[in-house]
Amino acid sequence: MVDGTSFMESLLILVFLLVGAVLSIVLLIATWTGIKILLWHLSRKREERRMAQRLKRPDGSDYPPHVRGVCTDCGYWFDTVFETEEDVRLCWHCLRRAESEDPDAGPPGSDDPGPLKPQHGAAV
Ligand SMILES: [Zn+2]
Repeated sequence: MVDGTSFMESLLILVFLLVGAVLSIVLLIATWTGIKILLWHLSRKREERRMAQRLKRPDGSDYPPHVRGVCTDCGYWFDTVFETEEDVRLCWHCLRRAESEDPDAGPPGSDDPGPLKPQHGAAV
C-alpha cells in the first residue's frame, strides 16, 4: 500500500526537479542570447570604426558625404558615390580623377578604386 505522505514528498521532489530544469534551460538560453548580443555589439562597433577609418583620405581629411546611386560622370550605379556639389555625385574613380585632374585615368573600374571598392555598376 502506498503511503500518502511519501507519495506527496515524491511528487513535491518531482515538481521541484521539473521547475529547476525549466529554470536552468531558461537561464541557459538567456545567457547564450546575452553573449550573442554582446558579441554582435562589439562586432558592430569594430566595423563602424573600420568604416570610419576607410572613409578618410590618406592625409586624414574626410571624403564628401556619400550615398548609393549613379555617378554623374560615368553613368554607372555604385553603392558609394560622393556628393561633391549639389546634384554632382562621383564614384571613387571619377572623384579621384577629378581631384587629380588626370584626364587619362582610364575607364571606371580599370584600377584600384580606393579604400572602398564600388560594386559593379549597371549602366543606366
Ligand atoms: Zn564615375
